[in-house]
Amino acid sequence: MATIDLTRAESLIRTIPDYPEPGVLFRDITPLLADAAALRSCIDAIIEPFAGEFDVVAGIEARGFLLAGAVAIAAEVGLVPIRKAGKLPRPAASVSYALEYGEATIEAHDDIAEGTRVLLVDDVLATGGTLQAAHDLMATLGGVVVGTSVLMELDALGGREVVGDVHTLFHA
Ligand code: AMP
Repeated sequence: MATIDLTRAESLIRTIPDYPEPGVLFRDITPLLADAAALRSCIDAIIEPFAGEFDVVAGIEARGFLLAGAVAIAAEVGLVPIRKAGKLPRPAASVSYALEYGEATIEAHDDIAEGTRVLLVDDVLATGGTLQAAHDLMATLGGVVVGTSVLMELDALGGREVVGDVHTLFHA
């Protein structure tokens, strides 16, 4: 397996303190997205362990979309958007999950056939609630999640214990 150099990409993830609320260190991937070579290296690294093993990529709103679109083109697969509640015209399934304060719901259309192999993609893994819910959502629709990939995992928040095996490009 060729090793992809992600040094530059990692240096382009910007940490913004106290956003969106005090105490949160927000990991801003927009400088990385703005750099063609860094973006390409990350897309290649997301695909590499799962190449040939997935039929669609599912991206989680909103920053997961930015990665999933590029993964879909590079891997020559289709894309399934996983959206926040109320955004899809005809959601076929929804899954609610706990946030630190309150609850969130994600939804998807039923545009995958039974047994479709799904690669789940998002920007950041924090507590793991979002990716676990996305996993359940795809399973409800008959998909088989064959991989989960994030740019950055926030190790201290324990998401890996919730989601299980996650392919992570960068740790913080
Ligand atoms: P969680 O469900 O706790 O794993 O949170 C993951 C979701 O929230 C992802 O969709 C991220 O985009 C977003 N998120 C959580 N924490 C951060 C953070 N510190 N910086 C950027 N995005 C975050």
